[in-house]
Amino acid sequence: MIRIVLMYHDIYTCDTTESGFQRKRDLPYKISALSFEEHVKTIKYYCENNRVSQEHVVFTFDDGGKSFSTVVAPILEKYGFKGLFFISSKFIGLENFLSEDDIIELHNHGHIIGSHAYSHKHLYKLTDAQVDNEWRISITALSKIIGEKIVYASIPNGDTSKRVLEFASKNGIKHIYTSEPTTQVKMFDGMEVIGRYVLLSDSTNEYVMSIILSKKKRLILSCKRIALKIIKSILGANYIQLKNFLFKQ
Ligand SMILES: [Zn+2]
Repeated sequence: MIRIVLMYHDIYTCDTTESGFQRKRDLPYKISALSFEEHVKTIKYYCENNRVSQEHVVFTFDDGGKSFSTVVAPILEKYGFKGLFFISSKFIGLENFLSEDDIIELHNHGHIIGSHAYSHKHLYKLTDAQVDNEWRISITALSKIIGEKIVYASIPNGDTSKRVLEFASKNGIKHIYTSEPTTQVKMFDGMEVIGRYVLLSDSTNEYVMSIILSKKKRLILSCKRIALKIIKSILGANYIQLKNFLFKQ
């Protein structure tokens, strides 16, 4: 069974300032609770009606915003799903972010807690010692909070490198989630490297279902990502607007 892994960030009930990072560039990633519940409900009914295991679709959430415990987990639980919650540990306990108690509660409810590194920097731009620190500090803090080893992680800001993977593996990660839109799982140093499909504030049910159902749609997304990488290498850092335009449905 292939797994379709979806990548979300914050989910808000009234306005986007409720949870997580508040930079302008974070806005496209914030999805209303209404839209999110529609996604979850549609996927649940698809699985039920087609006798597909609910494990076919994996819900992941990046950064560590407060909404993971106030909005996301209750919706996932209502429809029988578990979430993978990736947390940048520097922000634990700050306003709009999860507290230690929130993380323990998510863990106790059967959700998976993973690392999203320490300070949410572009890891591939850092030195070896800094990359090692980013993983180690975060993994140590999170495992102390939940009292278990942390073996799941996701890479902040999308881009990665061999070094970023090497240090994740060295710090005990067994499953690492990227931003590559693919269902292919690669192995690196005994660690699974797993792709994900990002959802944005304007992602409709139809769009989510097309990712799940259509191999062609997934191939198009993969090609767009490759095109983006080439464009990014030409344009440098100012490519975000173009990225959001390309990924509009
Ligand atoms: Zn992130």
